[in-house]
This record gives sequence, C-alpha cells and structure tokens, in this order.
Amino acid sequence: TILSKDIVKFDPSKIEWSTPTLYSFLCSTFSLVDKTKSRIKILDYITNMLRVLIYHDSASVLPAVWLSSNEITPSYEGVELGIGSHVLSKAVTSVSGCSHKALKAFYDKYGDWGDVAYEAKVSVRTLFEPRPLDIRTVYKNLLGISKLKGNGMVDQKTDLVKKLLISCKGEEVRYLTRTLIRNLRVGAVGKSVLISLARAFCLTSPKGIDRIANSQYSVDFTNDSKETINTKLKAAESLLKECFAQYPNYDGIVNTLLSHPIDKLMELCHLTVGVPLRPMLGQITRDFDSLFKKLQGRPCNCEMKYDGQRVQIHYNSNSSSNRQVSVFSRHLENITEKYPDIVDIIPKTRKDSITSFILDAEVVAVGENGKIENFQKLSNRSRKNVTLSLITIPICIFAFDLMYLNEEPLLKKSLRERRDLLETRFNQIPNKFAFVKHIESSSEEEIHEFFRESIEAGCEGIMVKVLDEPPRSLDIKTRMNFLASYEPDKRLESWIKLKKDYIEGLGDSLDVVPIGAWHGNGRKVNWWSPILLAVYNPETEMFESLCKCMSGFSDEFYKEMKQRYSHENGNLLETKKWYYDVDEGLRPEVWFEPQEVWEIRGADITISPVYKAACGKVDRDKGVSLRFPRFLRVREDKKIEDTTTSQQLVEMYYKQTKEHNVAEDDELDE
Ligand code: ATP
Repeated sequence: TILSKDIVKFDPSKIEWSTPTLYSFLCSTFSLVDKTKSRIKILDYITNMLRVLIYHDSASVLPAVWLSSNEITPSYEGVELGIGSHVLSKAVTSVSGCSHKALKAFYDKYGDWGDVAYEAKVSVRTLFEPRPLDIRTVYKNLLGISKLKGNGMVDQKTDLVKKLLISCKGEEVRYLTRTLIRNLRVGAVGKSVLISLARAFCLTSPKGIDRIANSQYSVDFTNDSKETINTKLKAAESLLKECFAQYPNYDGIVNTLLSHPIDKLMELCHLTVGVPLRPMLGQITRDFDSLFKKLQGRPCNCEMKYDGQRVQIHYNSNSSSNRQVSVFSRHLENITEKYPDIVDIIPKTRKDSITSFILDAEVVAVGENGKIENFQKLSNRSRKNVTLSLITIPICIFAFDLMYLNEEPLLKKSLRERRDLLETRFNQIPNKFAFVKHIESSSEEEIHEFFRESIEAGCEGIMVKVLDEPPRSLDIKTRMNFLASYEPDKRLESWIKLKKDYIEGLGDSLDVVPIGAWHGNGRKVNWWSPILLAVYNPETEMFESLCKCMSGFSDEFYKEMKQRYSHENGNLLETKKWYYDVDEGLRPEVWFEPQEVWEIRGADITISPVYKAACGKVDRDKGVSLRFPRFLRVREDKKIEDTTTSQQLVEMYYKQTKEHNVAEDDELDE
C-alpha cells in the first residue's frame, strides 16, 4: 500500500522498516507496475519504492536500481549473465520436480520463462521455510554468476540459479527468472527508473544526513504550491537525464546522490574518457523543401553521411590499463575487440601534446584505392578477438565530431569550434583516418549539388548541421532546437539527415529537350547556363517548359554545346517557336531549335506558377516543375518525339506524392 501513496504527501520517515530490505518488496513493485498501463502510476510506484530504500536502507538503492533497469552493470562493461534456456530448465526441473516435458508444455502455453518457472514452482511444498532473499543478496549473486568462467561454468551457474530459486517465494520466482534471462518485461521500467530516481532523491535524503547542515541535500517543498513542486521535480529529472546521457553509469550516479546534494551531480559525474556518452542523433527530413524550410537560410555544415558503423573512440595516453584506445558502438557496447585496426591507427592521428580525447566517427569498409564499400562488408567482421594481421576488409575512420580534448569536455562548444579543433589537432592518414567531407553553405543549389556528390561517392545522403549558436533574438524554443553544441542523446533540428532513400521517390529520370538558355556568369561566362528544358505534350504538340538546369555539366560539355547551339549551324533562334509553351516572365536570352534529348534527374516534382509543364493537370491554373535538375547525358538514341510527355510527368508527380506519404508514415513510426 505504501507504494500507491501520493509521492509528495508520502513521508518514508514515518514508516517502520527493517533492513536489509527483502527482495519481495522489489517484486511487489514490479508486480504493481506490471498490472498498470498508467505511466503516472508506474513512476509513483518506483519513486516510492526508491524513497523507502533511500531513507531506510541506502545500501539497497543501487542494487534495486540495477535490478529495476534490467541490467547488472553499465552496458559498455559488457558483463553478461550468460544464462540461457538450458541452464534455466535444468535449474527449474531440479527445484520444482517438474519434468522437461511438463516445462515444455508450460513454455508452449506462456512463452515466457518467468511464467513457466512460477507455474512449475507454485505448488511445491518445502519442509523448511527458506531464508527470505533480500535485494542486496540477489544482486550480489547475479554479479557472482556473471564472473563465472571456464570449465564447469554451466554446472556452477545452474547451482547458483537453483539456490536462488529455492529461496524464492511466489512472485519472486517470476521476476528473478525474468531477470536471469534479462527480460524483465515490466512495462517501460528502464526509462522510468531514471525519472523516478530524480524524483526520489529530490524528495528524500538518506536517514542520518543532517538535513540542517545540508539544507540543499534534498529539495525543500515545505511551503511550495503544487506547480512549484512540479517545476522542481522536472528540473531534477532534466538534470538526471543530462547527467545520464554523458555518464550512463548508475554506480557513479547513485553513489554520488547518496552522499551529495543533487545539484552537485554534474560536477562529480561528467564526461569521462572510458565511459561512452549517448550519441547525438539526427532528425529525418524527407525532402529538400522541408530541409530548406528548417534551415531558413542559416549557414550550415553539410557532411557526407557515410554508410558504415558509428563509433565513439576514446583515447587516454595515461590510461593505467594497457588499453589506451576504446571503441564504443552507437548503443554503447564496447566493440574495441572488433577493431584492432582502430586501436592501431588512432594514436598515430594525434598531433603533439594530445593526451586524451573522445571522437565521434563513422567507420567504413574501403577497397584497395580507398573506395567506399558497401555496409554489408563490414557487418561480416566478427565481433570479438579480431587479429590485426588477419584483417581482410580494411576500414577508414571518418571523424565528424570531437567531444573531449586534453581533459576538457567540448560539448558546450559550437560545432564550428569543435570541428576546427578536430581539423587542427589531428592528422589525416590516407585511406585510414579522414575528416568527413563537408562544405559550409547556405545555398540551396550548393547543398543540392553536395548531396549528389555524396551519393556518387557511395554515401547514403548528407547530414546538415548547425555550425554556430542561433542568435539570441530567436525565441527560446527555436533556439533550443537549433543548438550548435553537442547534445548527447538528443535528436534536434541542429542535425538534419537527408537520405537518398527518401529523396529517390523520384527514381525515374526524365528525357527532356533543351529549348532556350541564358548567358553564363563567372566561370561559365562564355557558355550557355542555365538551360531551359521542356517536356512534350502530344495532345497539343507543344513543348512545355519544365525547369532551368545548371548542374551535372562538365566544362568540356559546355564548350561543345556552345558550338552545337550557334548561329553558324542554325540552331540558335532570335524568337521562340510558336510550339514552345513558356511563361512570358521567364525570358531566356536565346532560343534553341529543338534537336536533342537530354536525360536528367531531379529531386522532386512541385507545382509551379512559372513553368507550363502539365499545366491544368495537377493544379487547375498551374504547371509543375522539376526541383534541382541535374544533367545526366545526351540521349543520342532518342528523337524529340520520345521526350517525356506531360502525362508521364503527372503520373510521376502522383507516384512521388504517394511515396512521400509512405516515407512520412515511416518517420512517424520511428
Ligand atoms: P540511420 O539509420 O539513418 O543511420 P540512426 O538512427 O542510426 O540513423 P541518426 O543519428 O538518426 O542515427 O543518423 C545519423 C547516423 O548516420 C549516425 O548514427 C551515424 O552512424 C551516421 N553518420 C554517417 N556520417 C555521419 C556524419 N557526418 N555525421 C553524423 N552521423 C553520421
């Protein structure tokens, strides 16, 4: 009943308690959580459970936190219980007297080892009541199991599991078994633990702490309104989340909270070499339109999005162990053993005086000449005990961020500052260690071009990142979404990803006819650029303007084209042909005789008030246009009558809209 009390009104100091706290207390929390879908109730149960422990039995807090989060140590330590159905069924048959066949029948019925063990043991009567299990003992035993190695390990594990199961009663059997196979199946416990921990430490201090001398130890709610209490609890939750994102280790966090005021947490548990932080993530955008709308002309860093494995590389030259380099995956597993080549190359990338750092990078399989290979190649590499000399698939590390350098966390610095440090303090090593290819730009044309280049280079798209802190004049919500700092575990609009799978809604290329042009500027001053392109409408026998194109051409092509479309050979016209449907406002400086078919590809087809292609077919008054067209080649095998028709364009438009909707749904699912 105490667990159901309102967390603000409930005072654990008013209840009688004896220690060490029994495991059944934790299991009754799991059972309550299991029976509700209300997140508010779930958080209240876990918060109250933790508050009782914080006040009366602080030594059980950490074990209870680990057991509630379905882990026994931080995931990056790679500690495994290593208990499978073989060990479990041996132990359960032995303590329950059930046959393997009966267990199998239970398993077919329930599909869950916890339920199977519970059913098997529920009717077993013992002569002597076993000593009740307490939380600390359960946790200690689990750590013990994880340390068993070598010959006879399976039997030793089975014995320990048997001992634990014999001491379990009722629901304890179910939850212990689930913990053993790391499948607690208690709704959302993992995430709720962190929030409950924040609330619990906000509301309660361990018994014996001199509350007066440590007035800040827990937050004082005495005279607070409900709103103020909520604000204080929310602040504590944000603090815990921020801390956990940089330092995902309950050992450090809980021990600090047990001995220090909550506001000291970040000072004591912060970014540390050897402890992986939760990576910053990118927001999906489905097309260039949405991307540019989000950027609103801000200059940004466009980086190639390599298709490999994300790695977080930690280096410490003073490491006491012989491991100076550690490599962690996106999900914070320690994958150093998979990459002896990273361990080998990383110390050589440092410039003088670098003693410690944390890098964010994508590791990609590369061919002989440094050509990017597809992702599959890398996933074939074994996860453990890879030997440097036996590696057959070489890799290149593409570094894109630097979060820590020489004892200094860089998270709060802007991307521009972090990137400058990365590029000035490290050396690239050909085909082994490189900075991600990037451009700094706010130009839609350039960003589009860079996207093309990335795809051609074998990447899966681009990451577009905010470089500098947004101006203070913007409202706080927008500013918080466009932070240029490194925000662990957050998916903000300051990192936007644009993937080719989303863009390739318009997979088909188009065959169009060049019908006019403008005189080029700058480098292109002697050539025609941009060039006006058109599709064909067989119903009206008109060439309808579609778009201006200025990318995908080589200088050589421009030169030759100038000769092909000239007065000398009669292809350059002073006035437009009557069968060219072009808006008066567009006014190309020259017109062409229709004679060539060009293959082009674009980002997407949009409704346009300027271009005449398929006018009236998609929109009553407007035509459609192709965004970001790029020239692919001249189709010498095609005649101008073979040009893409306006009707085909209409079909492409609807197909693309349908695919975008699907992509959008996928995005929501994510
Ligand atoms: P995805 O499935 O698109 O790789 P994700 O959910 O794994 O996405 P996101 O953060 O959403 O991760 O997308 C960025 C991912 O792209 C990173 O996790 C990283 O693996 C990869 N990546 C490749 N190049 C870069 C880069 N230059 N900057 C950031 N991430 C990059």
